[in-house]
Amino acid sequence: MASAKTYGNLIGGKFVPAKSGKTFENLSPADTSDVVGVFASSDDADVDAAVKAAAKAYETWRLVPAPKRAEILYRTGELLVKRKEEFARDMTREMGKVLSETRGDVQEAIDTAYYMAGEGRRLFGQTTPSELQNKFAMSVRMPVGVCGMIAPWNFPMAIPSWKLFPALVCGNTCVIKPAEDTPLSTFHLVEMLMEAGLPDGVVNIVTGFGPEAGAPLVEHPKVRAISFTGSSEVGRIVGQKAAGNFKPCSLEMGGKNAMIVLDDANLDLALDGAVWGAFGTSGQRCTATSRVIVDKRVAAEFTARIVERAKKLRVGNGLEENIEMGPQINKQQIETSTRYVKVAQDEGAALLQGGVALAEGVHSKGHFFAPTIFGKVQAKMRIAQEEVFGPVLSVIECDGVEDAIRIANGIEYGLSTALYSRDVNKAFRAIRDLEAGITYVNAPTIGAEVHLPFGGVKQTGNGHREGGTGALDFYTTWKSVYIDYSDKLQRAQIDNAK
Ligand code: NAD
Repeated sequence: MASAKTYGNLIGGKFVPAKSGKTFENLSPADTSDVVGVFASSDDADVDAAVKAAAKAYETWRLVPAPKRAEILYRTGELLVKRKEEFARDMTREMGKVLSETRGDVQEAIDTAYYMAGEGRRLFGQTTPSELQNKFAMSVRMPVGVCGMIAPWNFPMAIPSWKLFPALVCGNTCVIKPAEDTPLSTFHLVEMLMEAGLPDGVVNIVTGFGPEAGAPLVEHPKVRAISFTGSSEVGRIVGQKAAGNFKPCSLEMGGKNAMIVLDDANLDLALDGAVWGAFGTSGQRCTATSRVIVDKRVAAEFTARIVERAKKLRVGNGLEENIEMGPQINKQQIETSTRYVKVAQDEGAALLQGGVALAEGVHSKGHFFAPTIFGKVQAKMRIAQEEVFGPVLSVIECDGVEDAIRIANGIEYGLSTALYSRDVNKAFRAIRDLEAGITYVNAPTIGAEVHLPFGGVKQTGNGHREGGTGALDFYTTWKSVYIDYSDKLQRAQIDNAK
């Protein structure tokens, strides 16, 4: 096997090794003997150099007209279209999910590029009447400055694109730290930006581990905003550090997403949705279906059928076209899934399918876990409350729509929810009452579109949104502008009080 390529950090348009000289290997989770690349293991000195490069580039990038910045994004989208298959294959190799899903991940970056390119000719502000004669009033969006971005590994290109593209069209410069498990896809994305004409230093990449390379980015005084996606545990640390310096901080975190199946649902449709929602990306999506809350009148049939479906899923290396579920990201995630199986059994849940790591034959080289289903799950059990982030589904019985909504809301997270029913009244009640940033009706909990707001409530997020115009709100700050053309001192009404 050819020796793996070494990647330096991208700082000011140049690829440079970590100042310490340290590196780490990026291993394929389907075959850990396959070294995808060797990357810089960075620390605060590298972060400082990257932030300084971004601060320098900001002086000129912020003055490039937004429609021109947008043209670079559009060209990036076109380049991604051409390289889609190659980047999808590299992503499957570094992250594990099956090819059809990594093609989708690249597609999401393409969609975001085109969508945000369109924003270059909008970025609307407001004009509004002044309370005084001969005075004009408006508000305009201003860039924030240098933005620090910290990404997870499960959407290695899509999530960086959600952060970078809106930030860039708004006139910001960026330092991004990809997840240590999936740095390559960020390089592919940023290389396309550079090929499309992005000036040096506008986007910088610093690779490495959270405490060494992520924390200094959050704390750097020249970083004006932080966008973080990852676990709620790390998000809490990031948010607290950012708050210490009054930095705007967008936190997109974990989920424990519920699909509700009522007794009038199209069960075939709900089954398709549950299999895809629970086992797509091997259960490693923030929006993965990890709880099915099914009406007791159809629970036995639904449970028997989903167990049969899960048994038949083909688990293996995602580079093979007939494989339906790839590996877990790393050994640690196998340990987490295994631990939760024990927790669930100790609590009295019934293991109906899977529950074990797969380590024989074709599975012997990677981190594979069987699609797993628990029955007899009670809403308050840990398996129904905590994020596993593996292919582990809990089936919980309910009695009607109100009971289902109560169970769905009885957790600390609030990202995605789904309701399967043919009753429009029940659907609208669920849309109103489910505590979540996203609700699907007759569709699974996964499958967001880039032009709608993405994010959650409760422990999932702190009120910001990626996607849609919410992203523009995060990457800009409002400036109110008053222009007095009266040629005399006009005091505002508040200063003229009688
Ligand atoms: P993680 O929290 O372990 O890591 C996320 C990123 O934070 C990585 O780049 C990591 O290196 C970095 N990091 C770790 N410690 C840090 C520290 N002290 N300071 C700064 N950065 C630090 O999460 P993960 O395992 O990469 O991703 C899985 C999690 O992400 C799940 O909880 C999932 O639900 C969540 N997620 C959420 C969304 C969303 O939009 N809500 C999307 C995808 C994933």
